[in-house]
Amino acid sequence: MDILIAEDEPVSRLRLQTTLQNWGYKVTTAADGDQALQHMEKSDRPGIAILDWMMPNVDGVEVCRAIRATQAHGYVYVILLTSLDTEENMVAGFEAGADDYITKPFRVHELRARIRTGVRIVELHQQLTSAAMHDPLTGLLNRRAFFEIFEKEVARARRQQLPLALLMCDLDHFKEVNDQHGHPAGDAVLREAAQRLRSRVRSTDIVGRYGGEEFVLALPGCSLKQAVTIGEHLRDCISAEPFITPGGRLNMTTSVGVVTTWDMAEAGHLLKTADEALYRAKANGRNRVVADFRTAAA
Ligand SMILES: [Mg+2]
Repeated sequence: MDILIAEDEPVSRLRLQTTLQNWGYKVTTAADGDQALQHMEKSDRPGIAILDWMMPNVDGVEVCRAIRATQAHGYVYVILLTSLDTEENMVAGFEAGADDYITKPFRVHELRARIRTGVRIVELHQQLTSAAMHDPLTGLLNRRAFFEIFEKEVARARRQQLPLALLMCDLDHFKEVNDQHGHPAGDAVLREAAQRLRSRVRSTDIVGRYGGEEFVLALPGCSLKQAVTIGEHLRDCISAEPFITPGGRLNMTTSVGVVTTWDMAEAGHLLKTADEALYRAKANGRNRVVADFRTAAA
């Protein structure tokens, strides 16, 4: 867990820093509120911020308010650091969104206990966020989370004028697995298929479970031609080896629809076009890759 200490008094700052580092925390320090704000704008910002109330220019309460104003990059547990004469103003601190406060000079055991509480809260937030974004069966992004990330990737591809490919894979005749071999077999197939697809693309590619037996992959920087090749790899990785399930060894295949971004295409439109290409792959006999070449000019 990373902790930010924002404190303008050097002696107090160093004492806090040394204490926290001795407990094994990774510590970032800021000598004033402006520096603290810079640290908290980063995408890998610390999960806990200990902010001195009284600092020149931007004080701890203002930093706290700014942290609460941005929802991005996860929850930050804010502890305000006060001297006794500001303690009566603590209500203002809590109203600004602070989680807790510590009075100076701090007592070591109390500080340790309060930081542990913060760690627990931040970790709980991370778990809840992760659970809300992922499909519990396969561990892939769920439909909503995939769409949110995909929308950002589409906007980024347009800004940077880079291609972005979208592949939609649907396991062929999956309903028969559930019907003939039971749902535990179906679940085993979905888990294994997710793992095979994930292992065939880069860690920077975005993979989601879009529906029942439907998976989506967004490949930043990938042209239509490259995406078709990857689509063939994905098709191979599903059909190459049987799936070991509680209902026995099952041979599976997948159909794949492929598109790339084109001028001003919205995320929703891209998904719809990929779905249409997938439909053609199904209609043409399944276990095949169909690309939408109207999108190739992009
Ligand atoms: Mg101060």
